[in-house]
Formats: sequence, structure tokens, C-alpha cells
Amino acid sequence: DTYRAHNFSAGPAALPTEVLEQARDEMLNWQDRGLSVMEISHRNPAYMAVAKEAEQDLRDLLSIPDNYRVIFMSGGATSQFAMVPLNLLGNGGRADYVDTGHWSLKAIREGGRFGEVNVVCSSEEQSYTTIPDRSEWKLDPEAAYVHYTPNETIGGLEFMDIPDVGDVPLVADMSSTILSRSLDVSKYGVIYAGAQKNIGQAGITVVIIRDDLLGKAADACPTLWNYQQVADNDSMLNTPPTFALYICGLVFKWLKRQGGVEAMEKINKRKAEKLYKAIDSSDFYSNPIDPRYRSWMNVPFRLKSDDFNAEFLQEAEKAGLLNLKGHRAVGGMRASIYNAVSEDSVDALISFMAEFERKHD
Ligand code: PMP
Repeated sequence: DTYRAHNFSAGPAALPTEVLEQARDEMLNWQDRGLSVMEISHRNPAYMAVAKEAEQDLRDLLSIPDNYRVIFMSGGATSQFAMVPLNLLGNGGRADYVDTGHWSLKAIREGGRFGEVNVVCSSEEQSYTTIPDRSEWKLDPEAAYVHYTPNETIGGLEFMDIPDVGDVPLVADMSSTILSRSLDVSKYGVIYAGAQKNIGQAGITVVIIRDDLLGKAADACPTLWNYQQVADNDSMLNTPPTFALYICGLVFKWLKRQGGVEAMEKINKRKAEKLYKAIDSSDFYSNPIDPRYRSWMNVPFRLKSDDFNAEFLQEAEKAGLLNLKGHRAVGGMRASIYNAVSEDSVDALISFMAEFERKHD
């Protein structure tokens, strides 16, 4: 078997080995056509079937209701920070934003370039270690939408419940949590997610949008960024990132083989709980996040002293545990344990951490 490391990268992140193997096997001679999937027109019926199937599989996995459109767009989640206001604010309007950390703030700053943006609550004063209580949010009933980040990839802070925002459409940046657990799509106006964590490779973003929110774009919204235009053209208004979408499709099939999102939820819960337990039961490691809101996907942790960081990373790498360095904004370590990171990898990390502690405490 080809060597595969335990990969805790925050994104682009680990992909299922089976998916990579399939892509490899099909690379030169896809469907016995004598060419690769990236070498045909996106209008070719064989490719259009790939796109259609990817959408249907995602719909099945998340039980997406019929009144929601699913579109695949080029670029990352960062472009959605602009696309959301351009599509939902019309030619002037207000939006509410929840601030729970790094990615919330990026969305707020970008959103503010396109309309009036109100920050309804923030946990900045708590260094983003918690989520402000819903009763403290100063929501505007006239807002065009409420934007939040269900999982802060850098902070490791995750909403465990969907916030109730009444009739105002809820918009969620699910880049680092989509498909990790079951989800009630009907509670949302818009869900978007960059692919490179739980969906596939970088370069493509999934947008799920309730159909009554289409057709509200500002006049200045670029055609290619107009959700309605893209949806009405089956995400093929121009040449889509064809190979990236093919990879998403393979991941969706893999997820179905695993038993779908409900099966992943059980595994992910177990993975996260055992890693937090290992951290909490030691006085060498620590995680600062309010235990009610600890992310299942991104687990930041610090060592007793930052002086151990370099050695920890070096030793981890020698043991085949890669990409554990925390984001520079928070320091320390971070283990991202997305769907494609197996429970075995989490077990290997926990054993390594215990051994490192034993040697250094
Ligand atoms: N939102 C969240 C929650 C993220 O984790 C990331 C990437 N780490 C982004 C947005 C930005 O994604 P991209 O680099 O694909 O634009």
C-alpha cells in the first residue's frame, strides 16, 4: 500500500484515500473514453451527467428541500463574503452579522463594502472562546439576512444549534463544518462552503440557496456572481472548474458508502470527544474554548509551554502526524479532523500526545 500520513491539515485538507485512488485510476482513461474527465467540454453529455449526479448526491446527503437550488461556483468561500451582499442586499439594504472570530470578521469587513452591515454581537472581548448568548443579539427585523459562521476554523468554536433569527433569512459560512453532521437545510436562506475541507479540492464552492432569495441582486453584481443567473444555467454560465467538481462528486459517493452524514456524525462526535478528553485529562495540554461550543472539526490546543512547540511538531512529523501547527493568529497546535481523517488517525495523535507528555512533563 502507498504510504499515507495522518494528515491534520486545516485546508486544503485530507481527502479519502479511496477517492484519490479512483481519480488516479480514471485519470488517463475515464469511462473508457481514452481521455481524462478534465479534457472534455463541460457541455459534453458525459460531463453534464457528472455535474448532475454530484448535485443529486449532495441533495440526498443533506436532504435538501426542492425549493432550494444548489450551485457550484469557482473560487473559495472568500468570494462569497462579497457575493452574499451583492445578491441579497439589492441596491441598498442592511444586513446583520454575528462575530465569533477570524472568518466572521472577514465576512463582516467584506460585506461592509457592499451595504450597511451591523454586528449584532461579538465574543471578541472573550478572545472568541465562546458564543454570545442568543438573548444578547441585537437583531434588526428589517435586515436582509443574518450572517454567521457555524464553525470558526481557526478558533475551533462551533455552534451546536441553529440560532433562531425569526423570519430573517439565515446565511451560513459552513466551509469547515458542512457534511460533518446532519443538517436541517430548511432553517437557512443561504449556505455556502468552500470545498477544500469536507467536500473536495480547492477552487470550487457550494452554494445552497432558497429560491425566493434569487433575483434580488444589485445592478452592479457581476453576471458570473449572480446566484440566479448561475442557478438558471445549471452552474455552467461559463466553464466551471470541471475536475474540481468531479472530485466533489467522488467524495459525495464516498460519503454515501460510509452511510451518509448521519454515520459521519457519529464518528466525528466520537473523534472529537476522545481528543478533547485527552486534552482535558492532562495538565500538559489545554484548549481554551467554552466546552459547550468546542468544534468537532478543528481542535486547537496549546502545550504547557510554547518552548515545546518546535520539538512537538518535529517529533509528530517523524511519527507521520502532519500539519498540526496552529494558525499564526492563535498559535499553539491545531488538529483538523474532517470527515476524511479517520478515527485511527485521531487515536494515533492521542497516543503520540501522551507519549510526548510523558517525555517532557
Ligand atoms: N470561511 C471559513 C470558515 C474558512 O475556514 C475559510 C478557509 N480556511 C474561508 C472562509 C476562506 O476560504 P477560501 O480560502 O477558500 O476563500
